[in-house]
Amino acid sequence: MDAQVFGRVSIEGIHAVAVTRIGGVSSAPFDSLNLATYVGDDPACVTANLGIAKDLVSAQEVSVMNAEHGKTVHVVSEPGIAPLGDGLVTSQAQLAIAALAADCVPFGLIDPVNRVIAVGHAGWRGVLANLMQSLLDEFSAQGGQPDHTQAVIGPAICGNCYVVPAERVELFQDIRPEAINSSTTLDLTSGVRSVLATQVSKVYEFTGCTFENFDLFSYRRAAGEPTGRGGLVIAMSNSPVLNS
Ligand SMILES: [Zn+2]
Repeated sequence: MDAQVFGRVSIEGIHAVAVTRIGGVSSAPFDSLNLATYVGDDPACVTANLGIAKDLVSAQEVSVMNAEHGKTVHVVSEPGIAPLGDGLVTSQAQLAIAALAADCVPFGLIDPVNRVIAVGHAGWRGVLANLMQSLLDEFSAQGGQPDHTQAVIGPAICGNCYVVPAERVELFQDIRPEAINSSTTLDLTSGVRSVLATQVSKVYEFTGCTFENFDLFSYRRAAGEPTGRGGLVIAMSNSPVLNS
């Protein structure tokens, strides 16, 4: 079965795709388009799946996030597993960058004029630490200009499904109240959006709940059993579109 895309946006030769778990080569419980090497899947399958993912965005190589639930951002220009961190920025054409997630929020930044792209991954720790701003800052340092940047937010666990201890919700009260859905639920997507939307020109959202949609990997739904990681992949083609 061909890889099924959950959402796609293409802006002047820059392609952003949120993947589903469908159309890869991994066996259960990583079936089938698992993009993470660190979950126990066969490395050869992950490599093949990453090849599928980079094809979806018409890239030649892919640099994959190695998430640590902090706010470290790396500038990358080489393929492979990136150093530990939750954000990647590149201006390298043909190099896809991938943010992996299974309930956390994968998101990206695209500046089609200055040809800079970025991806981030934010769970509750990342939203609290404002990884979103760290990514915007490094993206700007690399030449991205937020006023003509478009952001993409991939599917994540929704505010109704993400039940957490009340003490965790309280942590957000003063820092990121936009992420609070109720006294025991967090809406991480709203937390991410609240930072991006005030700084970029447009936000695309691939709305969907990883926990509820069985076409997507969900760490929570796996309930302690191993599962795969999907996420958001972005790449620039070689040729910038002129006259735009
Ligand atoms: Zn949900």
